[in-house]
Amino acid sequence: MTFPPATASAFDPTRDPAWRLDAVGYDPFRETSRQSRFAISNGLMGVRGERAFTRGERWITPSRTSVAGLFDTADATDALPRLVPAPDWLQVCLVLPDGPMVHEQGDVPSHRMRLDMKRGALVTECRYEGAHAAVRVRELRLVSANQRAIGLQRIQFLIERGEVQARLEAPVAPIDAALTVDLEDPGIAVWRAHRSGKGLAMAACSSLAIDGVDLASQPMNALGVSWTWRASSGQIVEFSRLIALTVGPSGSTTLAASASRELGTAVRLGWTGVLAQHEAAWSDRWGASDVRIDGDPAAQQALRFAAYHLNGAANPDNEFVSIAARGLTGEDYAGHVFWDTEIFLLPFYILTWPEAARALLMYRFHTLDGARAKAARLGWRGALYAWESADTGADVTPAHALGPDRQVLDILCGTQEQHISADVAYAVWQYWTLTGDDEFLCDAGAEILLETARFWVSRAVPEEDGRRHIRGVIGPDEYHETIDDNAFTNVMARWNIERGVEVADLMLDRWPDRWDALSGRLGLTEAELANWPGAARSIATGFDAKTGLFEQFEGYTTLEHIDLETYSGRSVPMDVVLGRDRTAASQVIKQADVVALLALLPEAFPDGAGDANFAWYEPRCSHGSSLSTAMHGLAAARLGLTDKALDYFRRTSAIDLCDAKAAIAGGIHMAALGGVWMTAVLGFAGVSFQEDGIALHPQLPPGWSAMRFPLQWRGRRLTIAIDPGDVSVSVLIEKGEAMAAHVGEARYWLEPGQVRRMPTHRRDGRSPPVAS
Ligand code: BGC
Ligand code: BGC
Repeated sequence: MTFPPATASAFDPTRDPAWRLDAVGYDPFRETSRQSRFAISNGLMGVRGERAFTRGERWITPSRTSVAGLFDTADATDALPRLVPAPDWLQVCLVLPDGPMVHEQGDVPSHRMRLDMKRGALVTECRYEGAHAAVRVRELRLVSANQRAIGLQRIQFLIERGEVQARLEAPVAPIDAALTVDLEDPGIAVWRAHRSGKGLAMAACSSLAIDGVDLASQPMNALGVSWTWRASSGQIVEFSRLIALTVGPSGSTTLAASASRELGTAVRLGWTGVLAQHEAAWSDRWGASDVRIDGDPAAQQALRFAAYHLNGAANPDNEFVSIAARGLTGEDYAGHVFWDTEIFLLPFYILTWPEAARALLMYRFHTLDGARAKAARLGWRGALYAWESADTGADVTPAHALGPDRQVLDILCGTQEQHISADVAYAVWQYWTLTGDDEFLCDAGAEILLETARFWVSRAVPEEDGRRHIRGVIGPDEYHETIDDNAFTNVMARWNIERGVEVADLMLDRWPDRWDALSGRLGLTEAELANWPGAARSIATGFDAKTGLFEQFEGYTTLEHIDLETYSGRSVPMDVVLGRDRTAASQVIKQADVVALLALLPEAFPDGAGDANFAWYEPRCSHGSSLSTAMHGLAAARLGLTDKALDYFRRTSAIDLCDAKAAIAGGIHMAALGGVWMTAVLGFAGVSFQEDGIALHPQLPPGWSAMRFPLQWRGRRLTIAIDPGDVSVSVLIEKGEAMAAHVGEARYWLEPGQVRRMPTHRRDGRSPPVAS
């Protein structure tokens, strides 16, 4: 027996498998990884792909809904905030004479879950076979991309066999002791987190229709309801639940009122209206960000999966939250925000969703006081951002953690991993130059650039050799602690100070009144600023002009060299293989460090130095972090090491898509996903921007016959196509003013609405044309 087609459409996932992830059956060892991978998210809430009802036992694994900004500390001794899960709004239990409907092992093959990336929805199907009844079930769930407060769940039961008494229970209950009830009324509840005092309101509205006729419910608790009826063969039972969720420090009545208002809007639309608006919002997001690849279905799927989670992680309407290392898809790193956001995610948002990029940078603006306090606490000036950040901007890096070998480790990143301040400044500058958002620069960006520059000027201390040194830090390679003059940190610091000088000059020139107000507020005098260019120039960088190599930090080259090839079959990280101490005393690197610098600031590498540094550092890198292969892929693609770059691209994609590689039970790796997009668009397509327009230097991997993607630049919407065979590129200005395109040595002038095809002269070996 199957569902009649008329009622089926909402449950039918997109047909084209390139838009879907499918999972069939139940694999106890892969279940938690799949829950991360199949998560749905809208930047306000994220829901892991847990099964709605048919669990081994009744309600033992509640569906985890994470809410952006809902932080609390676990107890008085543990001062570190973590995201606490919201009450589970997806539980249902169908109680039949055989007991609650649960999946026994024999039923397992009938379970199928599909993540419909195109529609941003999770669709599940399964079948239950008991002594007295057989039921076919389909579930659709989503968190609205249009109205972020709204979650929708819809379940259809088809009674295939049985004339039985049935009860459907649909409760909503907290799954974490951190939340206690503050207010409960029919249809609405407010909980509060014990220590942070943050409130969470949820309003819910559920209904059950049997063969199209609504059935009256019995209340279970404020938000929970149940229904009892006589089930019979052929019956179609449809359950719908809409919830609205609001979060914040405000009082219960205010939170409850806003949740009720949000729910009211959704209820008036009905579930079909909510679904339609949600699908339209996803369609817009895909229109702005879908990268199409011809000739490599696996790469296509990897790019879709990356953009799916990137689009789901951001919320342009909330300037007070950022994106955690695992987004809203899992518990690892407790919902904390790292440099991952600025360095690995912002390029995607700046070029495809500038409103989201702006909100993410405003989060750093609102947490600037925390960064100033951290710098002051450690004896420096300006702003030193939290290595791990939550809601206030205070540093929330744990002092200890359990190492991969189960030893308790001291974590020094909270005080020593300071490149974060330059990373934030880097993202601010990228955003401003690529969007031209002067208001943002004047209101927030300039202050971040100046306060981080000021930090570095105080942090890089002049010594007797006439140079400034930055001692006692950790670079991106966290295997080496308390090191001096990390090339990544120092060159980024120098760049940060230079941008501080540039923004001061720019504001003085273009917005003198605003400059007066800002510099006055920051107490930034001409005398202080006059010191900055010299400070930037004299920072030691570890660059050796003879070899063209940066030394990763002072003394690095004297450490023990270990041939990583010898360990190529290993299944654990190198610091576990060698032990922490030996790793620290060796040249083994955890992740891209000088290579990351090459990816971010290629201009810091004179002619040929990029190749030399990549060739030297790549064999020393053990890729002990999910961030590492992404940076290697980007750098390799830009250097024209296309085969190698493709290998890195595949390895980065595999982190979250392939079970064999890494356990992702604690959430998907947002930075790696940003890296997949960057390697494709900034690497293989070779996109960069100049003052007058776009520059393209495509070097597609073998097998990628063509590539097409949208981008936004300074108010324009562009479609870029690398034509089949990689012999020409075309750019179309869909919206916005004329601009230039640089391809090879040639410069072209593009008018809006006209597709301009420009030869790359790569594969046929001829030189580029003269400018036209
Ligand atoms: C990470 C650090 C982090 C620490 C504590 C380590 O695994 O590499 O960046 O600060 O965990 O969360
Ligand atoms: C990496 C850091 C990263 C953190 C969160 C660590 O393993 O070393 O660079 O920020 O994970 O993704």
